[in-house]
Amino acid sequence: MEYVSTRGASDPVGFFDAFSAGLAPDGGLYVPKNLPLLPSSLLVEEEPLPYAALAWDFLSLFDTDHDPEVLSDLIDRSYGNFSDTMSAPLQQLDDDLYVLELFHGPTLAFKDFGLQLIGNLFEDQIARTGTPLNVLGATSGDTGSAAIHGLANKKGVNVFILYPEGRISELQERQMTCTEADNIFPIPIQGTFDDGQAIVKELMNDLSFKKEMRLSAVNSINIVRILAQCVYYLHAYTQLPQSARDSVNFIVPTGNFGNVFAGWLVHQMGLPVDTFDVSTNQNDILFQLFKTGKYSPGKVTPSHAPSMDIQVASNFERFLYYHNEKNGAQTKAMMEEFKRSGGLEIPNFNASNFTATRTTDEDIVENIRLVKEAYDYVVCPHTACGFQQIPENETNVILATAHPAKFPDIIEDAIGERPTSPVLEKLKTKEKVTYPVEATPEAVRAFLVENGV
Ligand SMILES: *Cc1c(COP(=O)(O)O)cnc(C)c1O
Repeated sequence: MEYVSTRGASDPVGFFDAFSAGLAPDGGLYVPKNLPLLPSSLLVEEEPLPYAALAWDFLSLFDTDHDPEVLSDLIDRSYGNFSDTMSAPLQQLDDDLYVLELFHGPTLAFKDFGLQLIGNLFEDQIARTGTPLNVLGATSGDTGSAAIHGLANKKGVNVFILYPEGRISELQERQMTCTEADNIFPIPIQGTFDDGQAIVKELMNDLSFKKEMRLSAVNSINIVRILAQCVYYLHAYTQLPQSARDSVNFIVPTGNFGNVFAGWLVHQMGLPVDTFDVSTNQNDILFQLFKTGKYSPGKVTPSHAPSMDIQVASNFERFLYYHNEKNGAQTKAMMEEFKRSGGLEIPNFNASNFTATRTTDEDIVENIRLVKEAYDYVVCPHTACGFQQIPENETNVILATAHPAKFPDIIEDAIGERPTSPVLEKLKTKEKVTYPVEATPEAVRAFLVENGV
């Protein structure tokens, strides 16, 4: 399988190169050159295949660079440690209402599906090329911990994650600092997430330093993350009773448009889906887009669903490329216009089979309460956005993107009880290991030189 850039000005590359580059040289995002049709046998399964087996069936369509046995082993190692043997179990709440639980990975959020595989692919790449790497990033919480757990104890890679001390939750900090892995360097800084991000940018933009230190990012727009996330849509579908498979809606709490785009991609490959509902919080740029065809980011307003507090949805460029009928030059022109003017009006915008909803902070709290009352089921504040407006007389599958125990305060406000999870309780018994560094590029640079592989 080859991968092309959404901006059409880079050469096609294979799986290895699309994975290791993240971003294409022309600034675009990689997409598969052609989307294969799903083998129909996958769609008529009466019983879901084991998760790793399904992941192999799907991912081997896209990774034709690895030896099949090697890929199979990487997949087993990525999903074998999930606490629920189903990895992504479907819970039925009502006649036609289901929740797809994506929070059984090591950091209790769906990002583990992408980053567990990415971690193993990094290790494989380092072994294959003989080049060790230093991963550098800044986090406001969730992505950093999923990346750390994807790379903890992997050979040939040290991981440096900056985070704003005192501005992330206690649990998030524990998830990053209690790994007991000696290749993980969580770096608390005095300042905000943006300060951390600015330091990372400055060091990454110093090309000779980047080369000397073999710096790499855990790129949020890596195509492999998207492909890995495609698998659970298929897995969900095959867990539905045959009678419920005729008109299926997936309702997806959305920030960067990565998760819902993965579902849409599988639909393009033949998964029968009626609609994808893009559920936003009060940061509703994507809601506005699907209502009006206008994409105009504003300022982020912090919400109860912080992992969806995003204004520029980086994966949207991939949808735009398909919307432009795979015209890279047109997509490039639009992204340049977007960069110039800070907004985009898409001519003849066709929302395809997307719908959109937005949920305020008050509604998030109210939805958590209502779901508990109606179904005796507790949802996290991100997942709560999916319950805002549920279509009637169709099969609805709401994606539960994180475990409620990651957000105990807001849940307690809503329903008067504090959710827990054995994974998080165990973290509380472990020692935090941090590497405080002064919040300047010079100090972080010196720390990397001293501690890099
Ligand atoms: C990242 C995240 C989201 C948003 O997912 P996107 O792929 O950015 O749309 C939603 N919920 C949780 C819990 C997340 O961590």
